Amino acid sequence: MDFQSFNFHPSIASGVKAAGYTTPTPIQEQAIPSVMAGCDVMGLAQTGTGKTAAFVLPILQRLMKGERGCVRALIVAPTRELAEQIHESICELGRQTRLRSATIYGGVSVNVQIEKLKRGVEIVVACPGRLLDHIGQGTVNLSRLEVLVLDEADQMFDMGFLPDIRRILKQLPAVRQTLLFSATMPDDIRRLASEILDHPVTVQAGSTTPPVTVTHAIYPVAQHLKTALLLELLHHTDTESVLIFTRTKHRAKRLGEQLEKAGYKAASLQGNLSQNRRQAALDGFRDGSFQILVATDIAARGIDVSQISHVVNYDITDTAEAYIHRIGRTGRAARTGDAFTLVTSEDAVMVRTIEKKLNYQLERRTVEGFDYSVPAPQKDSEFARPPRQPQVRKPAAKKGIQKTAGQGAGRPSDASRPASARPAPSGKPHSHGVKPVHPGDAPTARHPQRAPRAR
Ligand code: AMP
Repeated sequence: MDFQSFNFHPSIASGVKAAGYTTPTPIQEQAIPSVMAGCDVMGLAQTGTGKTAAFVLPILQRLMKGERGCVRALIVAPTRELAEQIHESICELGRQTRLRSATIYGGVSVNVQIEKLKRGVEIVVACPGRLLDHIGQGTVNLSRLEVLVLDEADQMFDMGFLPDIRRILKQLPAVRQTLLFSATMPDDIRRLASEILDHPVTVQAGSTTPPVTVTHAIYPVAQHLKTALLLELLHHTDTESVLIFTRTKHRAKRLGEQLEKAGYKAASLQGNLSQNRRQAALDGFRDGSFQILVATDIAARGIDVSQISHVVNYDITDTAEAYIHRIGRTGRAARTGDAFTLVTSEDAVMVRTIEKKLNYQLERRTVEGFDYSVPAPQKDSEFARPPRQPQVRKPAAKKGIQKTAGQGAGRPSDASRPASARPAPSGKPHSHGVKPVHPGDAPTARHPQRAPRAR
C-alpha cells in the first residue's frame, strides 16, 4: 500500500512527499480510511507508530473543503511537548494547504494565543487546563467544531485530566467526529470511550509487544550504587543517544546534573523547567548536542527521536505496559536498540510481572570489576553535600559486563563492541577503577508519580 491509494488532496499529498513518507505505517493503513469515512475511531497506539499522521492527514483532507477561519478540529494532548509535536506535524504535512493551527497550553503567554485565535485558525492543539481557561474567558469559539481528537488518553487520565476532559466535552457540539488514541486501555479510558465514541472502529498497532530488535537486560544493584553503576555502564557501552528514565522529577534533575559533572553531554527534562528550557533540552537531544536525556515518564511522553540507541530505566516502571512503552523508544524502524534496567531487591515483583508480559526471562547482567559491596552512606545522600575530589585512583582494571542468568534476545552486548567504536563523551566519567564518587540516590518511598499539570 502507498499513500496514493488514500487519494489525498494534491496539497496534502505534496506535504506527505516533503515529509519523506512513502509507505503508510500499520496504524495509518488501518486508521486513515476510517477517519476519512467520518467514523469515530479508537486507536490503540503509542508514540513512534505514526499515529499523529494517522489522524492529522484525514483531518487536513476534511478541512480542505468548507469554511476557513473558525476552529473545526480540536486535538487535546496531555503535555506541551506532545502538543508542539502534533502542531509541527500539522504544519509540515499541511504546509501547502493554507490551513492554520495554533497551540494552547500553560506556561506561556495567554495573549499571544488569544491573538492567534483572533486571526483565525482551523485547528487547535491544546492541553486541557489552558483550553478550559480560554473557554471560560470566551477567547476560543468551539461551536463550529467538527472533529475532536483525544491523544494519549491514558496519560491524560494518569495526570488527573479526566474531569477537565469531561468539562471540555460539555462545551463541544454533540454532533462531531471523535477519535481517541491511547497506548493502553485501562478501565476508565474504556468507559470514557464507550461514552463518547459512536460505533467506533478500533485500530491497533504495536501496543502489546516491544520491538524484537531491542535487547533487554537487567542490572541488579543496590539503590545507593545506581548512579555509579550507570556511569560504569555508559563508560563501557557504545551509545549514540541515550534516554534515561527516573521515577521522579527530582531524581531526573539530580541525575542529569551528576551525568554532566561526569563529563557527559546530558540534559534533564522534567516538569519544573520553563517551556524554553524544556524545548532546548528536547531540541538538543534531537540534534545530538545532548547525548543523554534524563526524563520522567510524563516529561518523556511523545518524545520522538528516531536514533535512540539505548533506553535506561534508572528506576523500573510501575507497570509492565509502561516498561514496554519506554522500551518502544528504542529499536524503532527496524533499528537495533538496547534497554537496560537497574533493579534493586525491591523490584523483584515488577521484574517478574514484566517477564510474564514479555513471555521470556530478562537477562541478568553484572559489571565485572564494579564494586557492588560499597556500603550505603550514613546520611541520606539526596541531601548530602557534594563529595570532595576522589582521593584514590586505582590502576585501571579491565572490566566487562557479565551475563549471569536468563536469556537475552540474542544480540551481543554493546560492551563487547570495540572501544574504538565508542564516541567519547566530552571528558571521561570518573568511573574507571574508582569507588563511586556520587553514591546515588538514597532509597525513597515509592510515590505514584504525580504529573506536572500542563495547563
Ligand atoms: P508518531 O508515532 O506520530 O510520533 O510518529 C513517529 C515518527 O514517525 C515521526 O517522526 C513521524 O514523522 C514518522 N512517520 C510517521 N508516519 C510515517 C511514515 N508513513 N513513513 C515514515 N515515517 C513516518
